[in-house]
Parts: sequence; structure tokens; C-alpha cells
Amino acid sequence: MFDALQRLFAPLLDLVFPPRCVVRGCRAAGGWLCQACLNKIRPLPEPHCLRCAEPWLVRPGLCANCLADAPDFSGAFCLGLYEGPLLDAVHALKYRGLRAVAKPLGGALAQAMLWSDWPPRAAGAGPPLVLALPSHPRRVLRRGVDHSAVIARSLADRLGWPLAPERLHRGRATADQVGLSIQERRANMADAFVSAAWERQDLLLVDDVLTTGATARAAAQALRRAGAGTVWLATLARAASSLRDRPGPGPRQSLP
Ligand SMILES: [Zn+2]
Ligand SMILES: [Zn+2]
Repeated sequence: MFDALQRLFAPLLDLVFPPRCVVRGCRAAGGWLCQACLNKIRPLPEPHCLRCAEPWLVRPGLCANCLADAPDFSGAFCLGLYEGPLLDAVHALKYRGLRAVAKPLGGALAQAMLWSDWPPRAAGAGPPLVLALPSHPRRVLRRGVDHSAVIARSLADRLGWPLAPERLHRGRATADQVGLSIQERRANMADAFVSAAWERQDLLLVDDVLTTGATARAAAQALRRAGAGTVWLATLARAASSLRDRPGPGPRQSLP
């Protein structure tokens, strides 16, 4: 209902408040995310984890987390690092409720996936069903926007891939993940999702930011237990799960 009203009045709102780029220090007119800022999104440095896209690995392969305990998703694709224009745009969508930003963001993610021919598919296989990683309804109410749902819709539109039926739901409310260790996050997320049955469909889970992957792991586990086929994960941004591994601030340094 709220979504339908927003869509109906969006052209009028654009007339009254012409869109401007949401990136700090830019504010270019003509759209919510300008091409110059999109071009500044920093792709994930190589090598990153083949499974969870953890950046800044010392050598190609899997990160320590995935080696110790492989997630139920088969691979992750992220548009770029969680910094600069991408961070500003995600914040505008998630914390300022500016849902129109989901369109250029979902479009950029779709384009990057198409260029990379990701996720891999067997010859003749159809695309996976696109499924938003659900936020807790109370959090959606508080923020006024279901950010992963609008990103998933924009991504599916741009790719021309089908949206999955909404069979994945939040089980119980979970504490805020900010400030928790990887182990604490996983314990916090255990059984946080419930899923109705799937019939071996391949799924593409969509969220805004991937950090430790605890939420995505829990969701993928619920999906696989409920009979889903291969589960993939696509997010706009990738944050490093361990700040210890992260190179210091500064210009784009040569990465290890
Ligand atoms: Zn801009
Ligand atoms: Zn990993």
C-alpha cells in the first residue's frame, strides 16, 4: 500500500524536490546517484574469498571462516567495497528511507553481475529466483523502508529474472549485530529465519551489505534445510569482517 502510494506520487515529488546525487560532496542534479559517483565505486580487490567474498585475503582461495565452517550459500557477489559513494548511497536508502536510490544501485549490481556472467549456471538452466533477505518487520516499520526488498526488486527488474515467492521469514527478533564478534553474531542469528518448503529451486538471496555473513549464513541454512537448490548471495557492498586485515586509510594502495 505504502509502496504503491510512493510509486504513484514519485513523479510529483520529483517535480517538487528534483533528485540530486546522494553522495556527500557531490549533489549533482538529475538523479539520486550520478554516473561519476557510480564510476567511483571501488570493486572488491583480488584475491577475495571464493565463497563469501571476504576481501584482502593473503592468497587466493577460501577465507579462514569458510575453511573452518563453509556457509550454505555457494558464492557471493558484491558490487563494491563499503566505502565512499556506495556507503553514502546505502545509508541514504537504509537510514533516510530514500527508496528511489535502490533503482540505480540495483541496476549497477545487475550490470556488474552480467559482465561477470555470475552466478555460474549449467547449460540450459534458467536463472535463480531472486529473494530478498528479510529484515525484521519491526525494523522495517522503524526505518520506513524494506531496503533488501527494494534492492531485490530493482535487481530482478534489471536482470529480467523472476522474484521468488516470499517463503522466507524472520523467526525471532535478533539483537543488533553492530559491535558483536563473528561467533556472537552467529549465535545471535541461529534460528533467526524460518522457511516454507522449496522444491529444489535455485535462489539468489539479496541484501545491502555483507559483513561477517552471519545473517546470510543463517538465511541460507534455513533455505537449504527447507529444500532449496543452490543458494547464491548478492549484495551491494562488502565490508571486511575483520578490521585487523584491512589496510590503513589512504589512496588506493596496492593490495597484498
Ligand atoms: Zn554524484
Ligand atoms: Zn569466506
